[in-house]
Amino acid sequence: MIIKNSELETVCGVTSKLPDNSLPEIAFAGKSNVGKSSLINALMNRKSLARTSSQPGKTQTINYYNINHELYFVDLPGYGYAKVSKEIKEKWGKMIESYLKNSKQLKKVFLLIDIRHEPSQNDKNMFNWIVYQGYQPVIIATKLDKIKRSQVQKHLKMLRTGLEAGKETQMIPFSSETKQGRDEILLLVDSCINC
Ligand code: GDP
Repeated sequence: MIIKNSELETVCGVTSKLPDNSLPEIAFAGKSNVGKSSLINALMNRKSLARTSSQPGKTQTINYYNINHELYFVDLPGYGYAKVSKEIKEKWGKMIESYLKNSKQLKKVFLLIDIRHEPSQNDKNMFNWIVYQGYQPVIIATKLDKIKRSQVQKHLKMLRTGLEAGKETQMIPFSSETKQGRDEILLLVDSCINC
């Protein structure tokens, strides 16, 4: 897929009603600071349309990016930021849950996990939540450039084991520095929007 046009169309806060879109949606979930904005910007070929992490974990919104008037990239709020209250964390959880439960156009969920580290309890919960809602998440293992090439397979295995994900779970290593993995992700987006 070639992204010619991208714009931030809708921003939903905790209390907003989710838009009733007719275009397919592809959602991106992940822990705060995992590289979600960088990935979305890299996919859109934009430097900074998606929010960047100057204030990590502060943004509690679901952002809808209209892509080519063909589909939406849905940027879910980053979870697991240590410095926010339990109450705010619960609100985020509810928001993400409500989105996964209620979006009629959701075609695929990408779950981003830092390739360097064992998945956290929040990552595991998120993975299970997505599965529970009936979706087969694709794992994007971010910050690929931060590990040696010889370590990649070992780290992917660590993520798979940590998440208790079966062979059916697809994993794509990605770097927003080198853009490695970008084409594979876009191909997958292409194949999902018509399913
Ligand atoms: P978000 O909170 O998940 O949206 O994370 P950001 O995209 O804002 O990234 C958090 C930090 O990680 C920033 O300092 C980014 O520059 C850095 N980062 C994100 N992706 C990569 C990557 O693929 N490689 C490297 N080396 N750094 C990355």
